[in-house]
Amino acid sequence: RPSIVFDNVVFGYDRDREILHGLSFEVPPGGNVAIVGPSGAGKSTIARLLFRFYDPWDGQILIEGQDIRTVSQNSLRRQIGIVPQDSVLFNDTIGYNIAYGREGATQDDVIAAARDAAILPFIERLPQGLDTEVGERGLKLSGGEKQRVAIARTLLKNPPILLLDEATSALDTRTEQDIIGTLRRMAQHRTTIAVAHRLSTIADSDMILVLEEGRLIEQGSHPDLLRRD
Ligand code: ADP
Ligand code: ADP
Repeated sequence: RPSIVFDNVVFGYDRDREILHGLSFEVPPGGNVAIVGPSGAGKSTIARLLFRFYDPWDGQILIEGQDIRTVSQNSLRRQIGIVPQDSVLFNDTIGYNIAYGREGATQDDVIAAARDAAILPFIERLPQGLDTEVGERGLKLSGGEKQRVAIARTLLKNPPILLLDEATSALDTRTEQDIIGTLRRMAQHRTTIAVAHRLSTIADSDMILVLEEGRLIEQGSHPDLLRRD
């Protein structure tokens, strides 16, 4: 059964302004989906609905077959790991930032958990060790390094669905491709939804949803969409 279903979802933030006008799509389990479209199209709104920051006016959203209104906040947060565009790191070590939420985790714990969750490729690409301090007290991580830490932190919780909300949009293309490539190689069993605006992020997605003014105007793989032009 599909991992995510949007069934005729209607939503707006203000009563007098509808933003999503009956949106329907399905994401298969393990699928790599990209949601693209111009600024203001409603991409982040989809992400917010998935996280139940808001509920639709009409229609239904299913996660693993369940109406998300019947799913508790806790299990929703276990099911969906989100990586935002600008992740906030704690003024602490890289290891602490990755293991945040695991009380008393030692570095060895982090490494073991990282190995179990197969996120070592993310950590190993960092030029510094897990005990390196970030923030004011230590070195400054670059934007790409910060996002690697943020993605590793989310992956450590092993969510079946990973939602990247412009998570790599602020990075240069090469860093972005490197990060997305790593993700693709390691997260094949995981449903991944990337909200993005750059073609390089989405070229090898299984399915691309093109959103414009709250409507799905195209849906297909990258070659499909190119053929239609
Ligand atoms: P995208 O992510 O595609 O750039 P958004 O989903 O952020 O688009 O926004 C879709 C529309 O909803 C835009 O017209 C935006 O102005 C509006 N919008 C977004 N957030 C809010 C909000 N909190 N309150 C009112 N309108 C909003
Ligand atoms: P800039 O990109 O202008 O240098 P950033 O906001 O990206 O500024 O962050 C600069 C550095 O500050 C980052 O490398 C990061 O290590 C650190 N940093 C950012 N936010 C936090 C935070 N909330 N806590 C600790 N360190 C942070």
